[in-house]
This record gives sequence, C-alpha cells and structure tokens, in this order.
Amino acid sequence: MPEDVIVEGSLLDADGARRGYARIRAGRLLETGQIGADSTRGRVRRVRGIVVPSPVNGHTHLGDAVATREPPHAPLDEIVRPPDGYKFRLLHETSGPAKRRAMRAALRQMQRQGVSATIDFREEGIEGLRLLREAGRALRLRTVALGRPLKRPVDRAELRALLEVADGVGLSSQSEESVEARRTIARACRDRGRYFALHASESVREPPDSYLEPRPDLLVHLAKASPDDLARVAEEKVTVSVCPRSNALFGRRPDLATFDRLGVRTLLGTDNAMFHSPSIWRELEFAYVAGRLARRPVRAEFLFRAAFVEPYRWLRTPRAAHLEAGGAVRPIAFRLPPDDPAYQIVARATEHLMVRSRPSRT
Ligand SMILES: [Zn+2]
Repeated sequence: MPEDVIVEGSLLDADGARRGYARIRAGRLLETGQIGADSTRGRVRRVRGIVVPSPVNGHTHLGDAVATREPPHAPLDEIVRPPDGYKFRLLHETSGPAKRRAMRAALRQMQRQGVSATIDFREEGIEGLRLLREAGRALRLRTVALGRPLKRPVDRAELRALLEVADGVGLSSQSEESVEARRTIARACRDRGRYFALHASESVREPPDSYLEPRPDLLVHLAKASPDDLARVAEEKVTVSVCPRSNALFGRRPDLATFDRLGVRTLLGTDNAMFHSPSIWRELEFAYVAGRLARRPVRAEFLFRAAFVEPYRWLRTPRAAHLEAGGAVRPIAFRLPPDDPAYQIVARATEHLMVRSRPSRT
C-alpha cells in the first residue's frame, strides 16, 4: 500500500491558484482544504510545494525517437518532408521492433515526467499506428494517435481501416494535400467521431481559408500566422498546438503573447522527437524565456493553461483539470516555493522536483 503525502502550499488548476493542502495517495487526490485543517492529525508525511493536474503533451512525432544524432543543419523541408526527407529515410531504414522500442522509451519517459496524455502524429499508415499502439501498451499515459493514410487519391477502405486503430488523422500540411483529399478525410473523421488535425503556417504564412476549410479539430504551429489570421482561428474556436523549441531550431517563434491576447485555444507540444526530448517541462520554460528574449513576454498563467487545462477541454474531459477529491484529476506535486505558482511551474518545474509516493512502512 503506498503511503499518503500531504502537500501544503499552493493548489493550481483550471480555477486558478489558491493556498491550501492536498492529500495524495498513489496519484489519487483524497482531500483538499485549508492548511492545518486536514483530517490526519499530523501522522502523515508533509511536504511544502505546489499541486497541479497532470500536464498533456499537445503535439509529438514519437516515431522520430529512432534518431539518435544531432539533427542536420538544413532547412526544415529537407528534413521532414514526406516521402523522402531525412526523417522518412530514417523511418524507412529502421525495423519495426526498433521503432516500437524507441517510441516505448519516449512514452515511458513522458510517463515518468508526470504527463497523462500525448497527442501524437504517427506517420507510416496503419502499420505505423499499430507499432505506436503496441509501444503504448499497459502504460498509464494515454496516447491520442493521429494517423496518416498513405494512398492518394484517398482510398476509402484504407481510411476506414486506419480510423479503426486511430483516434483521428494528422496530416502534414494543407499544401501537400488536395482539397478533395482533405474533405474526404475530414468527413470520415467527423462521421466516426475522430479528430482531424493538420500542420499550418509553419515555414511560410498560409491564408486561413486554406487550413480552416474543411474545419480541423486541431492545427499545429501557426508560427507564421498574422494577428488577423490568429483572430480568425480564435473566432472559429479551433485549437492550436504550438511547439516553441521546434520552431526556434529553424529561426521561428509563435507570438504567444498575441495568441493569449486574442484568446486562441492553445496547447503546448514538443514536436519531433528527433529534435528534442519530449519534455513538457523544458518546453514550458523555453516558451516563457523565448517570449522574454523577444521582448514579447507571455504570461506564465497562459502557458500553464496550455499544458494543464486546455488539453482536457480538447479531449472532452474538462473535469480532469480540476483538483477535486475523488474526481478525474491525476494530481502531481512539486517541491517548489508556493509563491507565484504558475511561474514556478512554468519556469522551474522538472521531474526531479516531483513528489513521488513511497511505499507504506506498515
Ligand atoms: Zn508536427
């Protein structure tokens, strides 16, 4: 039986920050309240810190975890363009079991870091999805698998079979697909209650009509989108995953202060596992620092919501972003000063500061 731990300090969730305590046992929230009012009469281990829901990684390509070397200094297109960019040659040359092992290692790393789910774009059709599902077997972390049908024009039988295994489709970008292909895929996703997602305005600005019609459930990047474009996206209530470290590697930066000001529904992702470790903690810190560096500071509260609150709305489980005893939330806690908790979580949290539950001594 794992022992209980009481974390006293700040609680930070979809409702914002408040002083208080949380009693946690093995990733479950047993009670919360005002400091000093807990029911344990001092018999339980106590830690000073901050309690939050588990974060979600809003965009990964875990298949890329097969890459073990410094990525080439080349334009993004040459590296990741299907079907023969560096990335796709690497995927092609690597065996299925080796890909599965690399993805499982990345998923386990994220789980160890407290992440509850990742939204992954999986290339290589149905076979690629099957490897991802095997890689994620028996983990607590949920993999939202967005696959990519291979045949063009779209083959309805392939698409149907793919949507049996996938949570949806994640396309490379609108410019690489005909509008007919996107319409067919979006309609099939809608009919089956699956997600339809694509990359947009990453290297060059694309007009919003080109990626908002057919309407996606998720866009990735918008690093080159203008404020007017972002206003359109906000108005259409389409969610966007941003990946600041991946963009920075190619000299780009999503203007998150403008995302915040315009009310764009934003998630935070770590993107290609060949460029970066899939650490949401590093991504949060970089997103914050990059805003300060560019003299376009972004609020820590906005970044907090992008990793801990908005994903659960997108996943249609919004209660998981509320620290409620007995609820859907999976709380995690950090040994961090309880002042300015959103800033602490965004700029200073790492998995090494997570409060781990110990086995009980009895
Ligand atoms: Zn991507």
